Amino acid sequence: MNKMPDILWLAEIKKEDIPSVGGKGASLGEMTAVGLPVPPAFVVTAQAFRRYLVGAGVEEKLYSRLEGLDVDDAELLEKTANDVMNIIMETEMPEALGREIIAAYKKMGNNEIVAVRSSATAEDLPDASFAGQQETYLNIKGDNDLLESIHKCWASLFGARAIYYRAKQGFDDRSVDIAVVVQILVFSEKAGVMFSSHPVTGETTTIIEGSWGLGEAVVSGTVSPDNYVFDQSTGRVVDRYIANKIVEILPDGEKGTKEVEVDKERQDIPVLNDNEIKKLAKFAKIAEEHYENPQDIEWGIVGEEIYILQSRPITTIKKGSDKEEAKMENEGKILLEGQGASPGIATGKVVIVSSIKDLGKVNEGDIMVAKMTNPDMVPAMRRASAIITDEGGMTCHAAIVSRELGTPATVGTKKATKVLAAGQTVTVDGEKGIVYEGAVAKASDAGQPAIQAAFAAAPIITATSIKVNVSLPEAAKRASATGADGVGLLRIEHLILGLGKTPNWFIRNDKEDEFVDELYTGIKTVMDEFNGKPVWVRTLDAPTDEFRNMKGGEDEPEEHNPMLGWRGIRRDLQSFDQFRLQVEAFKRLWDEGYDNLGIMFPLVGHPDEFLQAKDMMYDLGVDVDNKTLGIMVEIPSSAILIDDFIDAGIDFASFGTNDLIQYTLAIDRNNQNVADMYMPKHPAVLKIIKYAIDRCRRGGVECSICGQAGSDPDMVKWLVETGITSVSANIDAVQKIRETAARTEAKIILDASRK
Ligand code: PEP
Ligand code: MG
Repeated sequence: MNKMPDILWLAEIKKEDIPSVGGKGASLGEMTAVGLPVPPAFVVTAQAFRRYLVGAGVEEKLYSRLEGLDVDDAELLEKTANDVMNIIMETEMPEALGREIIAAYKKMGNNEIVAVRSSATAEDLPDASFAGQQETYLNIKGDNDLLESIHKCWASLFGARAIYYRAKQGFDDRSVDIAVVVQILVFSEKAGVMFSSHPVTGETTTIIEGSWGLGEAVVSGTVSPDNYVFDQSTGRVVDRYIANKIVEILPDGEKGTKEVEVDKERQDIPVLNDNEIKKLAKFAKIAEEHYENPQDIEWGIVGEEIYILQSRPITTIKKGSDKEEAKMENEGKILLEGQGASPGIATGKVVIVSSIKDLGKVNEGDIMVAKMTNPDMVPAMRRASAIITDEGGMTCHAAIVSRELGTPATVGTKKATKVLAAGQTVTVDGEKGIVYEGAVAKASDAGQPAIQAAFAAAPIITATSIKVNVSLPEAAKRASATGADGVGLLRIEHLILGLGKTPNWFIRNDKEDEFVDELYTGIKTVMDEFNGKPVWVRTLDAPTDEFRNMKGGEDEPEEHNPMLGWRGIRRDLQSFDQFRLQVEAFKRLWDEGYDNLGIMFPLVGHPDEFLQAKDMMYDLGVDVDNKTLGIMVEIPSSAILIDDFIDAGIDFASFGTNDLIQYTLAIDRNNQNVADMYMPKHPAVLKIIKYAIDRCRRGGVECSICGQAGSDPDMVKWLVETGITSVSANIDAVQKIRETAARTEAKIILDASRK
């Protein structure tokens, strides 16, 4: 058998070479072979390392130190690791190997600046990610520094972290080798990571995170990066969050890197344009198709050149037929109880998010723990395998977004941020609202059962139309896969809040077009998924406190009780420009033939408000009499005056029970201290709803529900019996709500025929 060379160039490497070049090296070789733009590199093979150990006669000396080591004894672990690393550092590299490495280095160019990366040979395998356990040295130049960095990479195979990780993952130290990749360093002007498919649900949306400077800033979580969501099936950017990027990592003169402040003008502007996003997403697709597995990819851009720096499998996604729900193996110790806000079970490491600065610490598969979530946290929520909050109820921001992302969530635990420790492993049951100590679920599954499959197996026709709620355009595909009869509520705040700026900021900074474009594109993404079925878009409704962290948030008024304050139609009627820009986006869609677009006004309390909004639309050139315009019934006054609204010409009314309950019962929907008094089936609430349904039926006006109560089968049974004409539920609830409606309708018919 031929002896494996000491050095292999990327073009010579195939995926079978993992034992020689490690997961990272093999992956770079393969990526080069499929035509991805990988910077030139060679690999010092694992065999070269092994021959060095054996040749120097230190192999036994070294491994015997590790045998039987109690890795939970931190002090002992640290000491042993240092001893073993010293053995390596004191054992010189064979001269011949040194010469070979230098010759390869010279072939790359004249004293090129390189990155020297460890590539452990069990690293990055599909079932275990060793990423980050061994060292990487950037900005290395010259023969001596190169040889020293390679030597240090070898030693890092025996760093405390690496030994600990191997022990816990059940890898024998003797079975793991190390190769070292020497690669031309790309001085990225901007860089980041991307997930070829959604890191938790596995959907075909590519998520790209990027920031200024070298990619280390994003990988290490030093900076909160921009976040772009690209839908591979439609070829469109469906969501973007432009972060405030305060620092960047740059090469530091001759050696190493440094962290510097990003100049003010670049902090808030998008790192990527649509063209770059598309190109990156194309590369992500090539990599995923080639590996037949979703990939976590590092990229960098210099001028017009895009480079793919690394690709490895995403370890958190459960694929295809495995995607059944995780089962609790044993009950385990309960650490916390709250409300089950988004079903599913997930296990992972706790990351506590106290401020926006912590968002970068949330890696894919982590359990994100926060007092409460905000719209600016959505990018991190996408990476989390579960979400836990101190505050909030079933209708809080964390609950709504988690359900759309298909991520299990337990909210309103009161003390998660105090009781849980960073790094601790927990299991979240988002159905029951329980957090267990350790990993107590049978599979490390995250997310919800395959909704589409359930629908395909049992299409049920109901007289009550069953619609779906959408807030994030990226959820549109999953929403339509439920087979819903349309969208009963599209919350557009999320389209704008994701940009990190208040609507007023866009107006004040002459960025009106950007605002309109974003609304138009987001709504269109959803409408395109629903192909002519009705889509009711709600005009902006975010309480002032949700705008506080955004750019422009400093101009928002301080309100004692934002829930009762300047939000919904009240604000739009007083903020002509904000309303006008929304209408411009709607008009574009109507002009393009999207006749199925209906507009719904939130927090309307008096028919005059509806009439005023309609007049404003008319003045802005909308043919209001031929458009579908309706209201949300969220304030008791609008239910009590429903006849007057019908006379004013509403086409539909939809119960926003999240607010209707809080305003009827004087119970703050986000306050966990009164959560047990927040009663959707309180007789007063039911009486108000029944009254409005009766009046709508009599007036021939469609009457619907889009609050969380519409996702509760018991409530829906009652609503159908009471005569509601449509129900809009969360994505995860559509199927069971359709079944409930069908059963209730059948019973009504049966009972009538027996009378
Ligand atoms: C509601 O109030 O029921 C509703 C659907 O609106 P939101 O939850 O966005 O206030
Ligand atoms: Mg509401």
